[in-house]
Amino acid sequence: MTTPKQQFTRLSKAPNLDMETRVTRLKKLKKVITANTDNIIQALNADYSRRCEAETRIAEIMICTAEINHTIAHMKAWARPKVSSAGIKFLFCKNAVIPQPLGVVGIVAPWNYPFNLAIAPLIAAISAGNKVMIKPSEMTPMTADIIAKVCSETFLDTEVAVSIGDIEVAQQFSEQPFNHLLFTGSTAVGKIIMKAAACNLTPVTLELGGKSPVVIDENYSLKKAAASIVGGKFYNAGQTCIAPDYILVHEKQQQALVAALQREIKRCYPDVLNNVDYTAVINERHFTRLNKLADESGKFQCLWPLGSDKRDDIQLFPPLLVINPDAQSSVMQSEIFGPILPIIAVKSTEQALEIINNKPNPLTLYIFSNQKKYIKNILDNTLSGSVAVNETIVQFAQDGVGFGGIGESGMGSYHGQNGFNSFSHLKTVYYQSRLNFNDMIRAPYTPLKNKVVKLLAKM
Ligand code: NAD
Repeated sequence: MTTPKQQFTRLSKAPNLDMETRVTRLKKLKKVITANTDNIIQALNADYSRRCEAETRIAEIMICTAEINHTIAHMKAWARPKVSSAGIKFLFCKNAVIPQPLGVVGIVAPWNYPFNLAIAPLIAAISAGNKVMIKPSEMTPMTADIIAKVCSETFLDTEVAVSIGDIEVAQQFSEQPFNHLLFTGSTAVGKIIMKAAACNLTPVTLELGGKSPVVIDENYSLKKAAASIVGGKFYNAGQTCIAPDYILVHEKQQQALVAALQREIKRCYPDVLNNVDYTAVINERHFTRLNKLADESGKFQCLWPLGSDKRDDIQLFPPLLVINPDAQSSVMQSEIFGPILPIIAVKSTEQALEIINNKPNPLTLYIFSNQKKYIKNILDNTLSGSVAVNETIVQFAQDGVGFGGIGESGMGSYHGQNGFNSFSHLKTVYYQSRLNFNDMIRAPYTPLKNKVVKLLAKM
């Protein structure tokens, strides 16, 4: 088995990818992903013991192929030098910003969308001409093997390498002197990764998690809000970084919202036990963690008799609504990352803002309102990686706009041109014109030059 160090040495000696190779490889990547669709679905289903097939198609495959299409359509324009005039002070001179590959980019991926979150950053890094090393999550080993298969069918082993293995391999991986390291995962491991990268002065993009709140304006239709929240929250059984984590609703409407959510959950998931649309919890550790969160909150409502969803072969966790949990309870302090949904009554928008702003900056924030003033108030007074108005989770699938967190939910971004730029060195090149007046701003400072300098300083 080749170690991350050996893989890094091999890749670092290989040339960066020219534009023609980048386009060819991305076209081939799309073909290989499409040809392996069934294998990808089966691998995800095996890793989860039950993974909704439609959600795998949308979130793992469609998003990657759409990202490839968008990237191929625009990458030549992104790579073109951007030339601008140097302005009146440097008459007839020019500046250019020339994107250049960084070298070897490392990608560490999590288990919740294990294919997408390895392949989408790969697309960006390849579009910028880099060689890439990927460390898939050890919690989804079948998907890790498919990622390795797809990469070996698409790329030369001097272009892309996949490091399969446990946490020890992950640690060795993060210690390599990458030219950029993109990590997607928990905030706690993000800090470990950043420390390891700091030893090599490796720049990082951190795509982390957090508690993404939902705020609902008093005038907004609760039926519409419930439909969108249920759709986003129980996708992948809540194991989504941008899943709505908790809801803030006016106290007058809390009961009606709970009823609307219950109706919508029953409509979407009439059954949990034998419903192939309802994904299982990834493993026993997370299943136990979720049970603990629910028990500690002490206030959960289950829509099915508890225990009726028990299966020996699959860790099924039913949708749970938690009404007004304590602010200090674990369910309100840590990222839920599962199908538990706290609904908290507030007396005013100010109180909702206070609750949001007393927590670390979220990865995303959801606003349900038709009033511009309400929306602006929330936008102006909160700081989150992204925001979606009147819908949940689809913001991740938008072509051409960046995605990333802020503060504890991450740093940097990728998707579209943001990804290309993150994995490029944007080199500034100054071109002096033949006519050179710069002597006027250099010693010896004669009376005439001093006049010119004073004039320039006033401009
Ligand atoms: P995790 O942090 O436990 O693991 C992520 C990756 O880090 C895995 O590949 C693992 O092998 C590696 N790793 C673990 N310990 C390591 C160490 N000591 N040194 C080096 N590497 C190490 O995260 P997870 O449980 O796989 O994913 C869930 C988290 O990811 C949630 O917090 C979720 O919000 C977040 N997430 C964020 C995004 C985003 O785009 N911002 C997307 C998906 C998931």
